[in-house]
Amino acid sequence: MSENLSNLLKEDRRFAPPAELAANANVTQETYEAAANDRLGFWAEQAERLTWGEPFTEVLDWTNPPFAKWFVGGKLNVAYNCVDRHVENGLGDKVAFHFVGEPGDTRDITYAELKDLVSQAANALTDLGVRAGDPVAIYMPMIPEAVVAMLACARLGAPHTVVFGGFSSDALASRIDGFGAKAVVTTDGGYRRGSASALKPAVDEALAKLGDASPVGNVLVVRRTGQDLPEGSWAEGRDVWWHDVVEAASTEHTPELFDAEHPLYVMYTSGTTGKPKGILHTSGGYLTQAAYTFWATFDHKPDDVYWCTADIGWVTGHTYIVYGPTANGATQVLYEGTPDSPHKGRWWEVVQENKVSILYTAPTAIRTFMKWGDEIPAEFDLSSLRLLGSVGESINPEAYVWYRENIGGGTAPIVDTWWQTETGGHMISPMPGVTESKPGSAMAPVPGIEVAVVDNDGRPVGNGQGGLLVVTEPWPGMLRTIWGDDERYKDTYWSRFAEQGYYFAGDGAKLDDDGAIWLLGRVDDVMNVSGHRLSTTEIESALVSHPKVAEAAVVGAADETTGQAVCAFVILREEAGDGGADIVEELRTHVAREIGPIAKPRQVMVVPELPKTRSGKIMRRLLRDVAENREVGDVTTLADSSVMDLISKGLSGDK
Ligand code: ATP
Ligand code: MG
Repeated sequence: MSENLSNLLKEDRRFAPPAELAANANVTQETYEAAANDRLGFWAEQAERLTWGEPFTEVLDWTNPPFAKWFVGGKLNVAYNCVDRHVENGLGDKVAFHFVGEPGDTRDITYAELKDLVSQAANALTDLGVRAGDPVAIYMPMIPEAVVAMLACARLGAPHTVVFGGFSSDALASRIDGFGAKAVVTTDGGYRRGSASALKPAVDEALAKLGDASPVGNVLVVRRTGQDLPEGSWAEGRDVWWHDVVEAASTEHTPELFDAEHPLYVMYTSGTTGKPKGILHTSGGYLTQAAYTFWATFDHKPDDVYWCTADIGWVTGHTYIVYGPTANGATQVLYEGTPDSPHKGRWWEVVQENKVSILYTAPTAIRTFMKWGDEIPAEFDLSSLRLLGSVGESINPEAYVWYRENIGGGTAPIVDTWWQTETGGHMISPMPGVTESKPGSAMAPVPGIEVAVVDNDGRPVGNGQGGLLVVTEPWPGMLRTIWGDDERYKDTYWSRFAEQGYYFAGDGAKLDDDGAIWLLGRVDDVMNVSGHRLSTTEIESALVSHPKVAEAAVVGAADETTGQAVCAFVILREEAGDGGADIVEELRTHVAREIGPIAKPRQVMVVPELPKTRSGKIMRRLLRDVAENREVGDVTTLADSSVMDLISKGLSGDK
């Protein structure tokens, strides 16, 4: 890409693993060496974490790249691996989920109970005609039945696609259609910010939109809120209540074996850079990487209480709530609500009450807590936390240090995990017992994964240089294709470095002088100002390091003189009020000082909110539309689609 990407981030703080953690760590320096010496042998060993009905005969078949087959000939049942075998191994009474509902209702589900629930749901789906290979759509809030529905599909070999409960009926309709879903599992509604909001009507609308073309035979509805369904919502014959068919079903269900390459699910990407892609994951390889990375990155021990705050409508909720932790027999918290309902200390109360020891969340949440103030988490006992994780975007160094100090008691290591829907599991992350971490850097590939930072011709850049992030060797959890579109799969990920056979991740990255990896944001988002290439991530981190700024998003907007100009959108911290009359100049000067005059934003706009996806990623393409005075593009995958109106309204005054 360019030399100019390497002039930034003069971060020199380092955090070594706590001695006790290092002494008992799941992953050690030797693990890296073993994996490097025999990569496929290493993954074959990790596959033995799973229980196979029939052993695989070959680790990887890469004879038809980029179409991989992992653990060839092996057969397994994913749900059996995540549930039944723990019960058989005497862990039936261990809690799988401490469910915490937003209104304050709680429910503990043991592995034995989970086995019954999943078996009942599998029997009910079978009665509704769902067979192995039949696609099922799941459109639900964060309640135990959502996890049960996913595992029941896995048990039947019926691939699922989970559609985020916050999406509109349009987004749902296009996914049902694209996926060819035979059944939909949903709820009457869910709780959000203290009130019940309906879900079922969106399913009705989606199916009405599809009309005769709808592939859906049945809609299975969980009663969560008990709210009245709108007049005419119930379609006899099509709609069935979960409590009628699942609770009445037998708890006996024999899991069938499926091929290692049997489709497990399709997850649509966030659409931050374009139309969402239906990413296909299969069974044996995916579950191996999910199980291994959960154990390794989080240094998971049997008595840990783990909490991942992601929604199951995002890949993180798939790999690091539903599949990875349960494959390890972990105990976890499942929380339905938002961080500020009924109060801004809600998460910390959940940590305190459940003695959470491992917390996995996104930088956007951390910045929100920073904005709300240190005194809120300080009111709670967070001493149970021993390890913290971050995912979704680069964590700004300021947010990292705040997280470590205010949530991690100044001692808990932070694992900054880089991965994608496409990669299925962690790819780059510190290992908490080994890595001396730098705030803002995802550090190094996890054992068994090979990545590189390369220039436009696919040549590795040296330390201290920036370029494009690629994965140089196939990995078990890799996507197998884009659902129904092999050409787009090849085109999107494998054509850019076809000669070298590298997977192109679409992210810019930099190697520092020690070879640590710093993610710099999407290649599509890189700005070109007077011939200098600038990273959104670095300018955003510079803005967030200013005491008045809570969040920042930076885009490049067309500019007659410089080609592109830096436009920044910032949210101020609560204690900063309106920032004062000189806030814009103050921030422009701050960026120039932190990074250099070339990075000085042409415009700084103070806004109340930023457009984000369900996973908390900023949709920069929409902000680019604003910065270039265009009509705002597709907003269907925003967590809250009204945000763009808020921003436009706020700005129209000063234009
Ligand atoms: P789309 O491809 O439709 O734009 P998406 O890429 O936002 O959707 P995900 O697969 O959830 O959907 O996001 C993966 C991307 O998130 C990565 O490519 C990277 O840009 C970013 N990301 C995730 N984790 C990290 C991290 N720890 N550090 C930096 N960036 C990260
Ligand atoms: Mg992506």
